[in-house]
Amino acid sequence: MTYKIVASQCTSCSACEAECPNVAISEKNGTFVINPKKCTECIGYFDVPQCVAVCPVDDTCVIDNSLPRYQPSA
Ligand code: SF4
Ligand code: SF4
Repeated sequence: MTYKIVASQCTSCSACEAECPNVAISEKNGTFVINPKKCTECIGYFDVPQCVAVCPVDDTCVIDNSLPRYQPSA
């Protein structure tokens, strides 16, 4: 946990979907969403969250402050 996609800014370009190492991103009703149960903030895979890296719209893939940050298991 987790990043989220700001639905009002997402253009549904789908660029992020294929880049997520956890297959946490999917399309729902025409917009893209991140499954917080699957998102690991890319920890263990990449130094930079891949959804943030590929999204063409600034500040659309952002930390979801309503959820605890992802804690890698030891
Ligand atoms: S931060 Fe990484 S793991 Fe989380 S949704 Fe984005 S690409 Fe997937
Ligand atoms: S890359 Fe950004 S604009 Fe494109 S579908 Fe993902 S969140 Fe939406």
